Amino acid sequence: LFNLKGQVAIVTGGALGIGQGIAFRLAEAGATVMITDINPEAAQSTVAQIKESGGTAASMMANVANLGDEKHAIEETIKIFGRLDILVNNAGIFPFAPALEVTEQLWDKVMGVNLKGLFFTTQAAAREMIKQGHGGKIINIASIDALHPSGMLVHYDTSKGGVAMMTKSLALEFGPKNILVNAIAPGGIQTPGASSPDTSEELLKAFTARIPLRRMGIPDDIAKAALFLASDMASYMNGSLIVIDGGYLQA
Ligand code: NAD
Repeated sequence: LFNLKGQVAIVTGGALGIGQGIAFRLAEAGATVMITDINPEAAQSTVAQIKESGGTAASMMANVANLGDEKHAIEETIKIFGRLDILVNNAGIFPFAPALEVTEQLWDKVMGVNLKGLFFTTQAAAREMIKQGHGGKIINIASIDALHPSGMLVHYDTSKGGVAMMTKSLALEFGPKNILVNAIAPGGIQTPGASSPDTSEELLKAFTARIPLRRMGIPDDIAKAALFLASDMASYMNGSLIVIDGGYLQA
């Protein structure tokens, strides 16, 4: 049902956290996975784990905020593996800061990775998919913050709201080329990023208490939906935003 044999996927920020979980799932389904990340050691370790379980993967150093990096990674992926079918725009940063303390530098940094980088990575990938003529799948990792503010994250929330709307705009433009663009809005997921010193124990406890499932998510909770969107099982989904938050937004 979720067979991705013969398909090539790029996962940005795929070395750790949610991206790593997605890389594992796509590789398990038979896709060849290229992990692009700014952390080459972690990326190589994830590639090694995929290979150990019989999958095919490689990694490249690429910062999504440096527009040329991802374009280069996409070109190299096609040179090495012959095609590109799936792009998972996962790389994202969420540095907490009260609105009054958000500097222009922090604003630009967050937008540079989460919004501008995501757009231009997508543009470069879509150009290749259109050239190849076989269509493709683009999966954007947004956040429940696209729908509901977290607090102390106005810059992040704004970027993720942008990702949600970008998903719809691109679904409209790329649909006729058989490139399906969808997004996932994760709730609180246990990842290295989410357990940064910025996230206090108290905040985490309060957050978890509000989740009807009474637990934080794990990367694989998101990866399963990414696999679904990447597969033919999501053949008529385009422009959707899947919320995966243990029911947090209902509370
Ligand atoms: P994480 O910090 O645990 O992992 C992020 C990965 O991306 C790391 O491997 C990191 O090296 C890489 N990365 C960071 N900046 C990069 C850049 N500029 N270019 C390339 N790679 C880069 O993060 P996570 O919690 O797994 O989050 C992944 C995505 O999910 C992000 O877009 C985040 O906003 C989103 N998200 C996370 C949560 C959560 O609770 N963890 C909730 C909602 C949305």
